[in-house]
Amino acid sequence: MKITKIRLFQVDLPMKEGAYSWSTQSYSSFDSTVVLIDTDEGITGAGESCPLGPSYLAAYAEGVRTGVTILAPDLIGEDPTQLDRINMKMDQLMKGHPYVKSAIDMACWDILGKATGMPVYQLLGGQLQERIKLFKVVARAAPEVMADRLIEYRESGFDHFQIKVGEHPRTDIERFKRIIEVMQSTDTVAADANTGWKQHDALVVVDTVGGLLRERNLTCYIEQPCLTYEECFVVRQHTNLPVILDECMDGLPVLLRGYRDHAMDLINLKINRMGGLTRARQIRDLCVALGIVMTIEDSWGGEIATAAIAHLAQSTPEAFHFQSSAFHDYNTIQIAEGGPVVADGYMTATSRPGLGVEPNMEILGSPIFQLGGS
Ligand code: MG
Repeated sequence: MKITKIRLFQVDLPMKEGAYSWSTQSYSSFDSTVVLIDTDEGITGAGESCPLGPSYLAAYAEGVRTGVTILAPDLIGEDPTQLDRINMKMDQLMKGHPYVKSAIDMACWDILGKATGMPVYQLLGGQLQERIKLFKVVARAAPEVMADRLIEYRESGFDHFQIKVGEHPRTDIERFKRIIEVMQSTDTVAADANTGWKQHDALVVVDTVGGLLRERNLTCYIEQPCLTYEECFVVRQHTNLPVILDECMDGLPVLLRGYRDHAMDLINLKINRMGGLTRARQIRDLCVALGIVMTIEDSWGGEIATAAIAHLAQSTPEAFHFQSSAFHDYNTIQIAEGGPVVADGYMTATSRPGLGVEPNMEILGSPIFQLGGS
């Protein structure tokens, strides 16, 4: 099989809740890129990469699109079903920039699934979970608003919540106080600072919050309190609260370092930070072998990126899967049909071949870049 055409689409994903705020940042819409890859056998694959704005990670939407146009000429004529070969080729053509390669890699997995008649989760190891535990993000807002939203989300079926903090330690402690008042013992809560605290502030927050939680016999996960691995490690050494590392877990070397140092209890595995499903699967399999539990998600996206999350999570043993995000559930527009079905705090990937999604061409519009084919 050969790649004959690569098309690129830009789409804005506005938020149902109006704004998505974390740490010191806030967006009402995210800029996503969809890649469609056509083949000489009439199979088309879809991939998506959506950075969480330009200053969350070293990734930005225009960078995805420019990067794909640089890679595309050398991918025409390549066999999309040879995933390691495609990834080796992309790495030869461009050093780093995993978020660019992610959409292409994802589209190639979609093609492999359609060519073999199998859902991607089957190709990634098989269906090890029937449905995927979701968490709901309680975006950063005034403390009482966040507490009310947690209650509202619980009433809609969720029991895993990620509260966004990391703005200012004093305000964040007020947020914790209100959240802890409404927390129930059946809730699983992670407080994600998204790198926002300085080390000394993080130490004060986890010490204060740890005391408040103990008074109610509750606990809370602390996610990526500070910018660097080293700062997060210091926080980890001074708290009994379980620690999740996210932004700094950007490849195998730091994962192995964290494992050796006992620097985290869980990691957050984001598909486009790793460069696509091929590399995310390597990390996933290593985490399972090392006994590290994962949140499996991406930086953001619509139905296509969320389908990739669902297939990777569904092929992960339940004991090593903490939770995932259904990003398409936060957006006001639907970029594809057949996205994962969300119900009662879980999502399920389709069993159709490939990722199981059908891009909505009316929403995607005309390609902003196209190479090859007719
Ligand atoms: Mg996080």
